[in-house]
Amino acid sequence: MSKIPTDYGSPGNAATLLDPSVTYVCQRCTACCKWPGDVRLEDSEISPIAEYLGMSEAKFLGEFTRLRTNRQGLSLIEKPNHECIMLVGNACRIHAVKPAQCAGFPNTWNFPGWREVCEAIPVPVLPGGSGVVE
Ligand code: SF4
Ligand code: SF4
Repeated sequence: MSKIPTDYGSPGNAATLLDPSVTYVCQRCTACCKWPGDVRLEDSEISPIAEYLGMSEAKFLGEFTRLRTNRQGLSLIEKPNHECIMLVGNACRIHAVKPAQCAGFPNTWNFPGWREVCEAIPVPVLPGGSGVVE
């Protein structure tokens, strides 16, 4: 963990280092659900997640969100050990509607050194489109 830079955990801070000929397939190791830092929640993601959880938006916002570190939007909250509040065992409680930050890592954003802490497997992208869909 010491190799993760201090500005990790946010696509807005990321320096994406991707090979366009490769897509990475998540192995559900949950490491990215356990790093301290913001799990950015966009406005458009609030309603689907609240509905998925069977909660009102107000209740969801009150129980599961906080301001991002930079105070420029919302983040999911974390447990005392820094795991995301939505991680239950080795599964995401809101996998079907998880935030774009979660769905995009490591293919749409990442950070220098991410391969050392993520178990996703690289798969060649086929000509004319991506090779793999999770
Ligand atoms: S994206 Fe990487 S770190 Fe996150 S769960 Fe998948 S394999 Fe693990
Ligand atoms: S919302 Fe789900 S996928 Fe995203 S960090 Fe939390 S547990 Fe992981």
